[in-house]
Amino acid sequence: MRYSAARLLWEGLKGHKGWGRAWRDPEPKPSYDVVIIGGGGHGLATAHYLSKVYGVRDVAVLEKGWIGGGNVGRNTTIIRSNYLLDGNEPFYEFSMKLWENLEQDLNYNAMVSQRGIMNLIHTDAQRDAFRRRGNAMRLYGAGSELLDADQVRKEVPFLNFDNARFPIKGALVQRRGGTVRHDAVAWGYARSADQHGVDIIQNCEVTGFRIENGKVLGIETTRGYIGAGKVGVAVAGNSSRVMAKAGMRLPIESHVLQAFVSEGLKPVIPGVITFGAGHFYVSQSDKGGLVFGGDIDGYNTYAQRGNMPVVEDVAEGGVALMPIIGRARLLRMWGGIMDMSMDGSPFIDKTHIDGLYFNGGWCYGGFKATPASGYAFAHLLATDTPHDTATAYRLDRFRSGAMIDEKGMGAQPNLH
Ligand SMILES: Cc1cc2nc3c(=O)[nH]c(=O)nc-3n(C[C@H](O)[C@H](O)[C@H](O)COP(=O)(O)OP(=O)(O)OC[C@H]3O[C@@H](n4cnc5c(N)ncnc54)[C@H](O)[C@@H]3O)c2cc1C
Repeated sequence: MRYSAARLLWEGLKGHKGWGRAWRDPEPKPSYDVVIIGGGGHGLATAHYLSKVYGVRDVAVLEKGWIGGGNVGRNTTIIRSNYLLDGNEPFYEFSMKLWENLEQDLNYNAMVSQRGIMNLIHTDAQRDAFRRRGNAMRLYGAGSELLDADQVRKEVPFLNFDNARFPIKGALVQRRGGTVRHDAVAWGYARSADQHGVDIIQNCEVTGFRIENGKVLGIETTRGYIGAGKVGVAVAGNSSRVMAKAGMRLPIESHVLQAFVSEGLKPVIPGVITFGAGHFYVSQSDKGGLVFGGDIDGYNTYAQRGNMPVVEDVAEGGVALMPIIGRARLLRMWGGIMDMSMDGSPFIDKTHIDGLYFNGGWCYGGFKATPASGYAFAHLLATDTPHDTATAYRLDRFRSGAMIDEKGMGAQPNLH
């Protein structure tokens, strides 16, 4: 069924009784050409591009829980392509271009809203660094603007400009950044992949790999053995656990990241704002809630709930930046497991095991990468060569020294 305004009107007149399922609920087949483990944004996007762009249709996505139950449905929905390094910027700009056409591509309303992202500047040194980043963005056609304090004040007058410790001196702005309705991304990709023949199998946990003579033959699951020509792993926060079942150890640590939403308020925040002197970022949802977050909890865990010290830290950042937030009541908070890599950049690569491919290490920023990650992983699975925008995301980069340390922080997951 194609979704359209005419269809909405027609179904409305019939009491909304004619809508079909958005995707099937098939039983797993004995084998597939390609099996993707993980029904998050990246796994589903991979299935969509693999089937639609590369014509590989004998594909299954195996999800241990339900579609959208992982980080794709837990994030703060921010998209942007404001990176500095050559290994990253073309990839994230490719992702931004895919976001810009996503709803037409999927025939699904993902509420892509390019309301802009503003990274605040608090010191002269930070202005220099952001000017450099802005120039790198312009070189790749991502667009950027450097605002002074008066220009920022005009757009967001409610910020605490004259805070004695963190005065606001300007901002780097990407007008094409913004937010996207996160779970709609999962549902839109799932629906489209299903329409192109992909089997989406929920409640199916992968428990092991069958590997013989250095080649993967299939996987063991809670719903039985499934043979596979190729296996792509895209399980985000569970990357180390799943790849350990294939005998691999990754340069990844898992940490919990929390997010918060306030009660619904009248429109106050025009786009996304990030604090430059602490870890705090905020936007406003279409329902009016202020959606915000901060740092990871800072200890290794696979639990999807965080602790109070980070709640306090995020609240401090929020109040320092925009004191009015102190009047808003918190409605909900939750956590998701982040696969933090040691240089803050991801992996989209083949492994040393024939037929086994890995996609992960997305840290805080994997939601905005979803379209390009899916496209590049599909390209790798279909052609056995890396996509042009993802050649740097190799698993051996720590051995070769070709790290992509966007912030120059070294191997400190919480600082990326
Ligand atoms: C609170 C929070 C805020 C964030 N904010 C942003 C943001 O604003 N912008 C941004 O760009 N990024 C953000 N992120 C990061 C982003 O959400 C993630 O990097 C990205 O969603 C990870 O990819 P995914 O969607 O494929 O992950 P997931 O949705 O987590 O998908 C992985 C799936 O694999 C499944 N799985 C795991 N193990 C198995 C197994 N053994 N068998 C079968 N299935 C398995 C899981 O159940 C899960 O559904 C945020 C994350 C969190 C938690």
